[in-house]
Amino acid sequence: MSDPKRPLPRADEFDTRDFWAATKNKEFKYQQCSNCETIIFYSRRHCTGCTDGNLEWKTATGKGTIYTFSVVRQSYHPFFRNQVPYAVAWIDMDEGPRILSNVVGVTDPLNDLKIGQAVTVEWEEHEDLCIPLFKPA
Ligand SMILES: [Zn+2]
Repeated sequence: MSDPKRPLPRADEFDTRDFWAATKNKEFKYQQCSNCETIIFYSRRHCTGCTDGNLEWKTATGKGTIYTFSVVRQSYHPFFRNQVPYAVAWIDMDEGPRILSNVVGVTDPLNDLKIGQAVTVEWEEHEDLCIPLFKPA
């Protein structure tokens, strides 16, 4: 029996396909409005600040900090059940996007993580895309 797999996003949806395509090259793309400079993440067709549709793609360095996090100690999902305890965190990227992800690479997420901690992206490779996870910097 094979190990349970992480559920993956659809990489072909119109609004997010360019983001997922860039992850194949381990690039973290986000958008910025050319009209009002609002940072937009997740990717979409219009600015969340002014509704303008003239958005520019940019590439983040992959560096950020933990805005907040929670530690999951129980899961009934076949994949995540084998990951507990694990940290689910909002990460503020240095360039402005805020993403919900996991912080990996720590032995004890209850004691090894803190709000404001510096993290850097850690790509989890899959066939059609890479998942941006984070690890302590
Ligand atoms: Zn705007």
